[in-house]
Amino acid sequence: MTGWVVIIGLGPGADGLITPDAQAAIAAATDIVGYIPYVRRITPRDGLVLHESDNRVEMERATHALQMADDGRRIVVVSSGDPGVFAMASAVFEAVEAGPADWCNLDIRVIPGITAMLAAAAAAGAPLGHDFCAINLSDNLKPWSLIETRLRLAAEADFAMAFYNPRSRSRPDGFGRTLAILRECCEPGRVIIFARAVSTPDQTLRVTTLDDATPEMADMRTIVLVGSSLTRAIARDGAPFVYTPRSVAQ
Ligand code: SAH
Repeated sequence: MTGWVVIIGLGPGADGLITPDAQAAIAAATDIVGYIPYVRRITPRDGLVLHESDNRVEMERATHALQMADDGRRIVVVSSGDPGVFAMASAVFEAVEAGPADWCNLDIRVIPGITAMLAAAAAAGAPLGHDFCAINLSDNLKPWSLIETRLRLAAEADFAMAFYNPRSRSRPDGFGRTLAILRECCEPGRVIIFARAVSTPDQTLRVTTLDDATPEMADMRTIVLVGSSLTRAIARDGAPFVYTPRSVAQ
């Protein structure tokens, strides 16, 4: 039996946002590998082995997946959202490069998923409708100085921005520093969206301005979207529609 590794994303939470291709990979798998809360989203069935692991052990998890595929098993590695966005797909390829030479001939595929940034943008309107960038605010895997450089340059280039991993118990201060940098670079009325637990029953969406934003508005279940200077909020009953126009004056 020829083994394989398919790396999938389960989307931001709602079952309707899991793609049919990701579901087909789960149906064909012998083993599911991933971070505990993501593996728990998979319905158990006879013949399917669930391997849960803690966060921060991505390389061990990826290596284990490749070893099992090499032994002929059919492995699905699960991430949330999209597996290529701050998630397991890169870890698997890092493990391929670090492993035995013939691992690069294994059948390894990545199936795209709906990333949190896109689900949050859709919930708010179209804030990412013009040029934008995505920044992971965690400094676990890169120096804080690089995050700061990227924030300043993204603001200077007038990108809309999506911030993943904005704030956690182990990193309580970084997001306050992020807001301070943005206040140096952007006007106080700049639109900011705090989208929490998007597409789950706990979803909340808060649309505010840079002036009124506070660090406590973000946690690890929140994605933060910052508009460009052209991003607009259309006031209405309830949450406004937020969008970025398609064009910039020439
Ligand atoms: N691969 C994932 C991102 C993993 S990083 C993806 O493509 O979405 C984890 C971060 O993603 C969280 O800290 C949060 O910023 C964001 N995130 C994931 N799911 C989310 C959701 N349902 N609502 C809001 N943010 C979410």
